This record gives sequence, C-alpha cells and structure tokens, in this order.
Amino acid sequence: KKIVIAIDGFSGCGKSSTAKQVAKKLGYTYIDSGAMYRAATLHFIRKFTELTNPKDIRRALDSMEITFHQNESNDHQDTYLNGLNVEKKIRSMEVSEKVSEISKIKEVRHELVAQQQRLGKHKGVVMDGRDIGTVVFPEAELKVFMTADTKIRAERRQKELLEKGELVELDKIIHNLEERDRIDSSRSESPLKKADDAIEIDTSLLEFEAQIDQITALAKK
Ligand code: C5P
Repeated sequence: KKIVIAIDGFSGCGKSSTAKQVAKKLGYTYIDSGAMYRAATLHFIRKFTELTNPKDIRRALDSMEITFHQNESNDHQDTYLNGLNVEKKIRSMEVSEKVSEISKIKEVRHELVAQQQRLGKHKGVVMDGRDIGTVVFPEAELKVFMTADTKIRAERRQKELLEKGELVELDKIIHNLEERDRIDSSRSESPLKKADDAIEIDTSLLEFEAQIDQITALAKK
C-alpha cells in the first residue's frame, strides 16, 4: 500500500537528499516544498512585491506558476517559475537570505499548501519541508523530523554551493541557517515544529545510507 511520507526539520539537515533517495528506493514521487517557497521568493523579488500590501501580494501570487520537470539526465527535478528553469537561481544565497521572510506571509502559505496537497493527493509521495507533517499532511502515515549539528549542516551546505559555483564563507552560511531556523520556528503561521507522532532522526550521528535504510524500512512496515 502506498503511503505519504512527511520529512520536516531544520534548514540544511539533509532533508531533500534523504527524501529523494527514499522516494527512489520506494518508487515514489519526491516533492521539494522548499523549492516552491524559494521559487515564490524569486518571483516576489522580481515583481518588487511590497510585503506589507495584501493587494500586491495577491497580484504576485496570481501571476506565479511553479512546476517541476524531470531534467535531461533524469536524476533530479528542476523547478520552473512561469515556464522558465530557475533551479540554479533558487539555490543562491540571495534567495536563501529572503526566503524565510516570504514564507512567513499567510497568503503565500495558503497558496503553496493548497498546491502541495494537490500534488500529494495520490499517495506514493515523499515531501520534505517545515510543516508537512503538521499542516500539509497531518494524516501522513510516516513522519520524520530531522535535526543535525549546525556546523555539520553549514559545511554540507557550503560544499553544495561550491559545486554550483558559489563560494560562501562558513560564518555567513551558519548565520543564514540559524536565522532561517529562528524565523521559521517563531512565525505565527504554521511554525516549524516536530509533529507529536514524528520520529526524530539526528543526521549528524548517522551515515547517509543507514538513514535511508531506516526510513525505507519504516515505510514498509
Ligand atoms: O527546504 P529549504 O531549506 O529549501 O526551504 C527554504 C525555506 O522555505 C525555509 O527556510 C522556510 O523558510 C521555507 N519553507 C517553509 N515551509 C516548507 C518548506 C520551506 O516555510 N514546507
């Protein structure tokens, strides 16, 4: 029987690489909800959206279409904003530094949560984010909450950025991860928190493969 797997946790804990591998092993669809908030952020930056003006926010949301497409090598999905591939841009520090402010906005969350629920309604889905087990799919059959040591998270993120050609100081990355965690955990609209029925995994203690195996085994139970 196919289920919904919700993976939540702090920034840079390896949620997306884990979710991707688990989905691959189970033959499930992987959905990166953070990519949707990142694409929305890029859209708001480009539209010079006034974040305190509900009309401006509504207008920006109405002119925003986010889709996912399998890339040529077929090993991962690319995020598209209004028909254009924005995968690389949404991973930049510029977007990382603004995304939590955009994600606080009630109208943005309502819009993206509704889209995420539509994407996951057929089960056989692994979705990662901050509120998947608490808000998007409170009925998910398996919920995982990931944590990791800040320095380890920052080093991983630094390596990922470097692979994409962006050299960023470790201190700047640590600051960004901590800021996002702080804003994500303290916002009034669906703050980041562990669902009561989520299984907590500290990824600084586990090998990547072991982590995948653990979650895949739980999914098959
Ligand atoms: O997962 P990722 O680090 O790409 O997410 C970027 C940001 O998007 C988070 O720091 C958070 O502000 C926001 N986000 C969210 N809810 C989700 C997924 C991401 O608020 N479900």
